[in-house]
Order: sequence, then structure tokens, then C-alpha cells
Amino acid sequence: MGEITLQAPDGKTASVPAGSSAAEALRKLVSNKVRKQTVAVLYNDRAIDLSAPLEEDGTLAPITLSSEEGQEILRHSTAHAMAQAVKELYGDGVKVAIGPAIEDGFYYDFDRKTPFTPEDFEAIENKMAEIASRRQPVERLEMDRQEAIDFFRDKGEPYKVELLEDMENDTVSLYRQGDFIDLCRGPHIPDTSWLKVFKLLRVAGSYWRGDESRQMLTRLYGTAFADKKGLKKYLHQLEEARKRDHRKLGKELALFSISEDIGPGLILWQPRGATLRRCIEDYWKDEHWRHGYELLYTPHIARQDLWKTSGHLDFYGENMYSPMEIDEVKYQLKPMNCPFHIGVYNSSPHSYREFPIRWCELGTVYRYERTGALHGLMRVRGFTQDDAHIFCRPDQLEEEIFNIIDLNLHILKTFGFDEYDVYLSTRPDKYVGSDEHWQLSTEALKQAMEKKGLEYEIDPGEGVFYGPKIDIKIKDQLGRSWQCSTIQVDFNLPERFNVTYTGQDGEKHQPIMIHRALMGSLERFIGVLIEHYAGAFPLWMAPEQARILNITDDQADYGRQVYQKLRQAGVRVEKDLRNEKLNYKIREAQMMKVPYMLIIGDREKESGTVTVRKKSGENLPPMTVKEFADMVHDECQAAVERRQ
Ligand SMILES: [Zn+2]
Ligand SMILES: [Zn+2]
Repeated sequence: MGEITLQAPDGKTASVPAGSSAAEALRKLVSNKVRKQTVAVLYNDRAIDLSAPLEEDGTLAPITLSSEEGQEILRHSTAHAMAQAVKELYGDGVKVAIGPAIEDGFYYDFDRKTPFTPEDFEAIENKMAEIASRRQPVERLEMDRQEAIDFFRDKGEPYKVELLEDMENDTVSLYRQGDFIDLCRGPHIPDTSWLKVFKLLRVAGSYWRGDESRQMLTRLYGTAFADKKGLKKYLHQLEEARKRDHRKLGKELALFSISEDIGPGLILWQPRGATLRRCIEDYWKDEHWRHGYELLYTPHIARQDLWKTSGHLDFYGENMYSPMEIDEVKYQLKPMNCPFHIGVYNSSPHSYREFPIRWCELGTVYRYERTGALHGLMRVRGFTQDDAHIFCRPDQLEEEIFNIIDLNLHILKTFGFDEYDVYLSTRPDKYVGSDEHWQLSTEALKQAMEKKGLEYEIDPGEGVFYGPKIDIKIKDQLGRSWQCSTIQVDFNLPERFNVTYTGQDGEKHQPIMIHRALMGSLERFIGVLIEHYAGAFPLWMAPEQARILNITDDQADYGRQVYQKLRQAGVRVEKDLRNEKLNYKIREAQMMKVPYMLIIGDREKESGTVTVRKKSGENLPPMTVKEFADMVHDECQAAVERRQ
């Protein structure tokens, strides 16, 4: 038997007999300490089990628990152990479906007459701990696909049979630990003793293969970590996220509601939420105006023919709502604003001298989302995009992209987001437009980001078919990422709608069109803001900036005067002049996260002042009503003007 040579990531090489296991080879390549943390290996860039035999020369890198891949293998293995525990506890009354690792954990879908409840968690966790203590080896088996189908049919596991029937490969891999055998690609942990820190988290319904016409299954969610510290930190973060849940805060702070009578996924903005939204919109419009944009308003419906020309019916049809007929012509609700902005463009001839043209709109669009996918403000059926379209000449593209990025980051910063991940998606396999155009614009996107000093990752082939794009994901207070801004170059729509301008040469040319959304959807962005600030919005966007609280009824009239004056001065003020104890009223104002409380007693009434109490409890010296209004204005002005 021959020898093979393997190389570790640090360059170290070792020879072992061909057919040695990855674990044996690792012994010659990495320290004991690293091996203790190693769950699997990357062999010639392919993840395989530690027990897998190595037959040829190549690179060998340990996958340790501290890496993302290692954590994923641990979590996926924990999903197997959970399914094993469920089968041992509940026997043939439960059928197993699928159980992948997901971000932060794993799940497994089961078919059981009585769905699981959180009361079942303890028994399942205890059984999993018992399985871990058995130190059962996790073995990989390869099987002929038909053989595997027969095997799972014998076992009475119809979901596995269906999965296998849909596969195309001749051989499939299974993993066995004790009596439990699952269909799986692997890799997995070497034995069950690796499962030390895990927890079941929640249960939810889920349709088999996400298809609402198929069987409803119960999905058990859980997570696993290499150590207790990791789990503790994660549970703390979950708790923090639960407290900040925008659906919970949206109700408590009376920002928005969703009503079955109106329809799922359709947002009703309550007065406080509407005020918050107005502050955001006003700032957005003002800032765009200052940066050379003009505002458009366009209709909510258009003739079906428009959506044929734009290609939306062909490529986006399943997200659009059915047509309605007006004067025997079919109309459809808009899923996007782009064709309308082109309509504005095409309503008059244009010359090269006018470029760049920058048009923006807070455009409300409607898209079909499955009921199961709807989620508070984050996933809805009607939402307002903060949309913009830029028409420019090829030689202006780089500068325009730079300007867009600059404005985007500036606005995101004002909203309190300083950290982001930036991605550049390049040409996919199927595309329209010439290679030359793709190259030119991809280069322009790169140059603009580099000029701005932005670090970015490239997503090769992930661009839309009509052009390359930049995506910006913001990080919130809890470190969670949210996709918000997107900047897309489009070679398709100008072609479809015959968008042209007269060049310096007197000939017709096609301009470059850029689509850009900054917040993405106002609904979703406000959902993110609610969670980012835990409902305690900065003064400039707080729906209620100040609340007037009187000490006794004697100051009620004065309270009303102060209220009138502040409203006149443009301060978003409310009043609580009820005959209640001051402390009680303060507590309520604090619960509503009002930045300033204006307390008025006899002294304030006589001197025509207010005592300003901050949300934190700190008192400011008494000031006149005008002084307070000026202070609020100055503070807001400073917040929205901090340009880097
Ligand atoms: Zn698996
Ligand atoms: Zn667009």
C-alpha cells in the first residue's frame, strides 16, 4: 500500500499510508490541543468525517468547534441526537422529516398526531443527555438509493422515502448512532459524547417542504454550543431580543397594529407610529433635496400591459396581485415603482446636458407573501419603499455610485447605524446587456466603494440578471444584521422601455439607470429602529418628545397654556393633567419612553417656567417655555446634521 502526503494549513506536511483515517493523519499534523477541538476536517476543501479514509495526496485542515463550520456540524449533530431522543421516547408515533443546522442553532421537523409543546422539552433534553453519555459512535454508511428507500419504507418513515425518491444520485449516505439511522450528507461529530451544551428553545408548526397543501409538521428548535459560556451569552441575547421585539413594543408604545378585519400583512399606523414615520419621511425628503434629488409621486396601479413591457409579469408574476378591470382594461397593483419613474422620464425628450437626473419617491408597493411568512413590520404585503432612480451617462456612473453610497451611509449614521457589511454581487450565468457594460459598471461600483474607503465582500455571480449591485447590511444594537440598502445598475429596463437621450453627437443613446433603496422598506426599517432603540427613540424622531405633568389640579390651566405654546412652536408635546399622583404619571411617561417630562407646580406656574426632567431621572434647572422649545430644536438639529 502506498503512502500519501498531506499538508496542513500552516504548511506542515506528513505522510501516512493511503487509506488512513483523517483522524490518524491529523495526529501527525496538528497539536493535541487542536485535535481535542476538532469535529471534522476539510480534505481538499471538502468537509468530511474524522473517520473517513484518505486515499490521495492533498490538503487537510481541522474544523474546530470554535469555527463557524465546526459549530454548524455540532448543531446539526445535535439535531440528529434530538431526533434519536424523540424516536426513543415516542416510538413509531412520530415520523421524522428533516433537521438541518440554521443560524444560531438547528431544528427538526416531526410528524406527530399531538404536536409537541414546551412541556415536552425537559424529557427530550434528558434523553439527549443520556444519549450523549452513551458515547455512541456516529457512523457513516453508504447505500444504494433504492436500498435506502426500502430501508426507510420498512421503518415506516415516509418523509425520508419521499426525499430519497426525489434524489438523482445512485448512492446515498446515512448516519447511524445506536439504533437511530438518518439520511444525511454529513459530516458529523465522531461520537455522541461531543454533545455537551444544548437546549431546546421553541416549537412551531411548519408545512412539509414549505407547501401549505402538504402535511403540517411540528418543528422543534434548539441550539448547541461548545461551552456553557456560549449558550449563556446566546440566551441572554435572546431575552434581550424578546424584550425589544417590535411587535411587542409596537403594541405597548401604540405605534402600529395589524387587524384581521383589514387583512394580514397590512399595517395600520397608530397616531404615534404615524408621527414617528412622518419625522423619518420629512428628514428623508429634506436630505434628498439637499443632495440634488427631486421628489416624485406616482400611482398605485397601472395597466397590465405596462407590467408586460417591464417584464414583471414574466419574472415577478407570482408576487403580484390579480388584475382588476377598469373600462374593460386590466390593471394591476404595483410591486415596484421603476416603470412609473421611466414613465415620467419618457414623457419628454432628454439631452445629455440634463444628467444626472435623480428622482426619489416614497412609493407604496404591494407584493404577495405567504401568510406563514408574514412577521410584524418585517414581512408585510403592502409597504413603502424609499426608492430612487438615477439616470446618467456612462462617464458619470462612478461618481453617481459614490454619491449614493455617501448619502446612504450618512443617513444610516444619522439613524444610529455605524456598522455595516457591504457586498458586491457580480454577473450571474444568465444575464442581459453586453459584457462591456457589465465590466464597466462592475468596475465603477468597485472604484466608488474604494474611493469611499469601504471594505466589501464579493458575491460572485449573485448579481441580478439585469446588472451588478451593492447590498449594505446594517448591524443593530444586538449585533444582528439587517439587509437595508441596495444599489443596482440596470441594463434591462432602459432597453425594454426604449429610454433614450440625445448625446453631444446629436444621436440617440441609452442612459444608465440605477435603482436605489436606502432603508429598503419604511415598515421594515422602522421595525429595525424599534428593536435597535428598544422603543426609546432619539429626540429628533421620538413621536412624543415631551409630556406635561401637573402636580395638582391648580396647575391644570397653566398646563394647557404650556401645551398650546409648545405645539405652536413645533414641539411634539402631550399632556397628562389627570388628577393622579405625580409619581404615577412619571412612571407612565417613562413606560412610553418619552425623552422629557415637563413638571409644573405652583412655583412654575407663577414664574411661567417648566421643570424639565429627563427620562433618566435627571432634572434640568427650570426654564421658560421658549427656552425649552429652543433646546429641543437645537438638539434635533444637531442630531440630523452631524455630517462626518
Ligand atoms: Zn444530518
Ligand atoms: Zn427601481
